[in-house]
Amino acid sequence: MKKITVISGKGGTGKTTFTANLVSLMDKVVIADCDVDAPNLHLLLKPENRNDEIYRGAKLAVKDEEKCIDCGICYDNCRFNAIRKSDFSVIDLKCEGCGVCAEVCPTDALKMEEIVTGNIYRAESKYGPMIHARLIPGADTSGKLVSEVKKIADEKAKEINADWIIVDGSPGIGCPVIASLNDADMALLVTEPTLTGFSDLRRVIEVIDHFNIEAGLIINKFDINEAISDRIEEYCRNENIELFARIPYSKKIVDSLQKGELFAANPGNEDLKEMMLQVVSKIKNNFKGE
Ligand code: SF4
Ligand code: SF4
Repeated sequence: MKKITVISGKGGTGKTTFTANLVSLMDKVVIADCDVDAPNLHLLLKPENRNDEIYRGAKLAVKDEEKCIDCGICYDNCRFNAIRKSDFSVIDLKCEGCGVCAEVCPTDALKMEEIVTGNIYRAESKYGPMIHARLIPGADTSGKLVSEVKKIADEKAKEINADWIIVDGSPGIGCPVIASLNDADMALLVTEPTLTGFSDLRRVIEVIDHFNIEAGLIINKFDINEAISDRIEEYCRNENIELFARIPYSKKIVDSLQKGELFAANPGNEDLKEMMLQVVSKIKNNFKGE
C-alpha cells in the first residue's frame, strides 16, 4: 500500500479538484482529506453514511475555586501569561495546556481537561472510504488533527487491503502540511503559473527535499502563462521532479466544478480524463518493481 500526498504551496491552485478527479480513476483507494482548516474534498466526492465523532485535541487548565488558597504559585510559573494576577483565574484563550500550573499547585486546585477542537468523519464515497475532518475555527491543533485523520485512513486501508491512500494535504508549508507529508511515499505538487505560485512551489520543494520524498509536478491552468509554466517545469527538472501533467485552463473544468461534478467523469471530457489517466500511470510507474 502506498501513500500519495497532494500538496500546493498555497490555496486556490486547484489542488482539491485535481485530487478528487485523481481518486475517481484509482482502484482500491482510501481517501484522507487533511485540509482540516478548510475541507472541501467532500463537496466533490459526496461521501455518504458519515460517522461523526468529536475530536478532543487540546487540554485546558480548569480551577476548582473551593480548593484555591490564593498562593499565586500558578501565576509565577505560567510562562504563557494565562493566569490572572488579580484572582489567579485561568485565561482560557491564552492557556496552551502545558500542565505546569496543575503540577505546581499545592492544593490540587488546577486540573487539566480535554477540550473539543474538531470533528472527524468516517464516510463512504463512490470511489472508496473517505476520512475527513473539520477543525473548530480558532483551535490551534491542526497538525494533530491531520495526524489523527491519517492514522484512521491507515487503519481503514489495512482493513480493506487497499493499494493506495490518497491524502489531500493542507495548503502552505506549516505544521499541518508537514503532518500531511509525514510517511508519504510520494508527493504530488500542484501549482499554477504565477510568480507567487512559483515562489510557493520552491518553498514546498524545500520541505519535500527535507523529507526526501519523491515528487511529481502538476501545473494547473498552464496556458494562462506558458512562459512561467516553462520556467517551473525546468526548475523542477533540475530538482529531479518529473512533470506529471499540464492541465489547461478549460471551460469544461469550470463547468464541471460549478455543478459540483468531476471533470474526468463528464461525457465529452475524454481528453481531460485521458490526461488524468496518464497521471495515474505515472504514479504507478514510480512504484514499478517494488
Ligand atoms: S497555585 Fe493553586 S492554590 Fe495557588 S493560586 Fe494557583 S490555583 Fe490557587
Ligand atoms: S496549563 Fe500551562 S498555559 Fe495553561 S494556565 Fe497552566 S501553566 Fe498556563
